[in-house]
Amino acid sequence: MSDPTLPKELLPDDVPMQDDGYYAGEKERHRSRETGTVVVLIDAQADRRWNPRPGGRWITLCREHGRLTRWPSLGIARSWYAYPSIWCGACDQRLARREGSVPG
Ligand SMILES: [Zn+2]
Repeated sequence: MSDPTLPKELLPDDVPMQDDGYYAGEKERHRSRETGTVVVLIDAQADRRWNPRPGGRWITLCREHGRLTRWPSLGIARSWYAYPSIWCGACDQRLARREGSVPG
């Protein structure tokens, strides 16, 4: 049985974008030193298309893989968003491949 409260993976087209090229509610973005992918920190309360919910106001998004994860506080979201291997399965696999390919 699937749990409807679990975050789903979004396709890029599902993500609320603004005309200026930023995501609705975007707070920060940078290229992760860990994986090289661009990650974005978003306040879901800024736009109801994010479907904000209690305990999940703050969103981290991997732009490359479209993986969206919800966090209960800004502090927690900020502490994890630079490490997409923790919350994006595709980034985790990429990192594992890279580390496996480096000898010693
Ligand atoms: Zn990713």
